[in-house]
Amino acid sequence: MKKWMLLSAFVLLLAACNDENQEDEMDEEETEETDTTEEIEEEEEEEVVEEEEQMQQVQISEEDLFYDSHIYRLVDKNHALAEDYVPSDLVTVDVRVVYEDGANQLRQIAAQALSNLFAAADNDGITLYADSGYRSYDTQAGLYNSYVERSGEAEANRYSAQPGHSEHQTGLTMDVTSESANFQLLQSFGDTEEGIWVEENAHRYGFIISYPEGTEEITGYMYEPWHLRFLGISLATEIYESGLTYQEYLMERGFDIE
Ligand SMILES: [Zn+2]
Repeated sequence: MKKWMLLSAFVLLLAACNDENQEDEMDEEETEETDTTEEIEEEEEEEVVEEEEQMQQVQISEEDLFYDSHIYRLVDKNHALAEDYVPSDLVTVDVRVVYEDGANQLRQIAAQALSNLFAAADNDGITLYADSGYRSYDTQAGLYNSYVERSGEAEANRYSAQPGHSEHQTGLTMDVTSESANFQLLQSFGDTEEGIWVEENAHRYGFIISYPEGTEEITGYMYEPWHLRFLGISLATEIYESGLTYQEYLMERGFDIE
């Protein structure tokens, strides 16, 4: 009887040992599994980071681009605003202006952004003047016709938009100048201290230079260092960092805008 009990105890002990061994092995397996899981998680994290980088691109839909009151509205030689489109939230800008009785209106959001831009410029000792903001379809038609009379249609098309095709009708565009440019809209503004500041900083306040130097073949307009289009800080910054015009940027993102 005693012998049987001892034997049983021995068997139990062995069994226990085996169990322990098995548990150890299982622990090891679990450890291995944990390692593998961590590796997978790391890989997943890398994928998430890559996705997030792509997600950081400003969301734009084709609808936005062709909806008159959307701040991303594309207005160029091939894309026009409706003749009767007038922004509903125009306000007079609260910055230094060249003409007290001039075209000094912008949409609310762009007017605020322009105030921020001017304040930042002031801080850096840069004195800017707003020259021309919102223009109605009819005002643009009058301007364009007078330019055609003055320089002929082909030349006028290089520097003036046909009615409906002016970014100024969006209420999101302001021409700026400086005393150093004689308060004029001249290409030499781009070489002034003020023009250089604008080129380097406008995007921080949501504006791009629509017609940068050397892009006439793309935009259809000669270099206009004074012409600032509001697109919001995120999109303006993306475009600035891309070094592209708005049109090129949109094409690179796969929008069919031609
Ligand atoms: Zn302009």
